[in-house]
Amino acid sequence: MTIQPRPADKATPYWWEAAPVGGVPGQPLAPRVDVAIVGAGYAGLSAALTLVRAGRSVAVFDAMNPGEGASSRNGGITSGSIRPGLAALTRKFGEKTAFEIESEGKRAREFLYDFLKTEEISCDFQLTGAFRAALGYQQYDEMARAAEGLAKRLGIDAYAVPHAEQRGYIGTDFYRGGVVRMDIGGLHPAKFHAELLRVALAAGVMVHCHTPVTAITRDAAGFDVTSSAGKTTAQQVLVCTNGYTDAAAPYLRRRLVPVRSRIIVTEELSPDLMAKLMPRRMMMGENRQLGFYYRPTPDGKRILLGGRDSSWVGDPAAPTLRLRAGLAELFPELSDVRLAHSWFGNVAMNRDMLPRLFERDGVVYASGFCGSGVVWATWVGSRAAHRLLGDTVEGRTAFDFRPPAAVPFYNGTPWFMPAFIKFYGLQDRFALWRAQR
Ligand SMILES: Cc1cc2nc3c(=O)[nH]c(=O)nc-3n(C[C@H](O)[C@H](O)[C@H](O)COP(=O)(O)OP(=O)(O)OC[C@H]3O[C@@H](n4cnc5c(N)ncnc54)[C@H](O)[C@@H]3O)c2cc1C
Repeated sequence: MTIQPRPADKATPYWWEAAPVGGVPGQPLAPRVDVAIVGAGYAGLSAALTLVRAGRSVAVFDAMNPGEGASSRNGGITSGSIRPGLAALTRKFGEKTAFEIESEGKRAREFLYDFLKTEEISCDFQLTGAFRAALGYQQYDEMARAAEGLAKRLGIDAYAVPHAEQRGYIGTDFYRGGVVRMDIGGLHPAKFHAELLRVALAAGVMVHCHTPVTAITRDAAGFDVTSSAGKTTAQQVLVCTNGYTDAAAPYLRRRLVPVRSRIIVTEELSPDLMAKLMPRRMMMGENRQLGFYYRPTPDGKRILLGGRDSSWVGDPAAPTLRLRAGLAELFPELSDVRLAHSWFGNVAMNRDMLPRLFERDGVVYASGFCGSGVVWATWVGSRAAHRLLGDTVEGRTAFDFRPPAAVPFYNGTPWFMPAFIKFYGLQDRFALWRAQR
């Protein structure tokens, strides 16, 4: 019998070493609150903080430890990006709305950075800039034009890096140049969540962990929120369950597909190797459908690489091995590197890949962050709070339009994901072949 090598030393997030997720001191369930929030990730806590500071009583419920969903498992890249891209948004919504959506990314990033500073949030944030790599020269030309547009329209410090200068940014010849944006950086996601939780608790938010909400029912006086701890009456309800949405929010569940995203983290690498592979310590990304995102850990000693995970039950080894192969393809120096961690979490995809703030039967939903929630969840959560407070100016967002469309033949089990991932994988291989032939 051959013994398979363990794909990684630990199956828990690297981030939990420095900021383990855990419970909060138990408190009695209030029979009545102004606002009940389901989900204690970035979105739920950001909303709760805004509401409490405006004088509302707020109870936040989470089925797990606060942050144990995506908010302590992610890559920590403050991208605030929108998947469809400006050209696709313009085709779909027209120039004005497309521009509004794009500008909102800038506001949302600035909101986050300001929040980190004002609240003295200690989460290893560094505004390093991000390098987005081009697969081929045609893609490079398109990306260079888009970077020029960003700089002109929004004043974002963005510029193209031709192939000949690429090694000054990333130690690989796999790509054909890329673009840099200096408005994106990296933080320690679990520390950020822990700090957000600290600030929210200090402000008076009531957080009930390991308390799944099982039903939300409406009556003339407001809502009955039933959880494992009992019943609470709330004037208003906000659902922030994103990729972990369950049967308590059936309307949302038919509209958001949880997709596993996986991250691997290497063992410590030598300073020389790190300086060669990531000379500017930037955040990295690329344009394949199943593309990778990667970055140095905040201490600059390891490489973290994330990408899609084709599994949806258990924790099989294959997705880790696929990411490992991707890492080695980019950086052959890392072919034999030991992996210290490999873990997954759920991102939430809706059909048009746009985050949403919407209301249905009186319940407000903030979700659909499509893998970019460090910025978006924090921002949309706070907009949701302003909306609940009746502030139509601060509560406005470009994502405040009709709910996402339901996904056909889907009721919460993403049985089709492995086939989709295979299909996108084939598309990627073809795109790479065409781009580099
Ligand atoms: C591996 C990975 C890498 C990522 N990388 C990045 C990145 O680099 N940059 C970026 O911007 N974004 C990234 N993301 C996305 C980002 O982490 C998420 O968009 C963001 O954390 C979503 O926050 P949230 O508050 O909406 O949801 P979550 O943090 O997922 O919280 C939802 C919570 O709802 C709770 N819940 C669900 N149902 C119930 C119920 N019935 N009762 C009570 N509680 C319930 C869950 O327990 C969970 O804690 C990544 C995500 C993953 C998984």
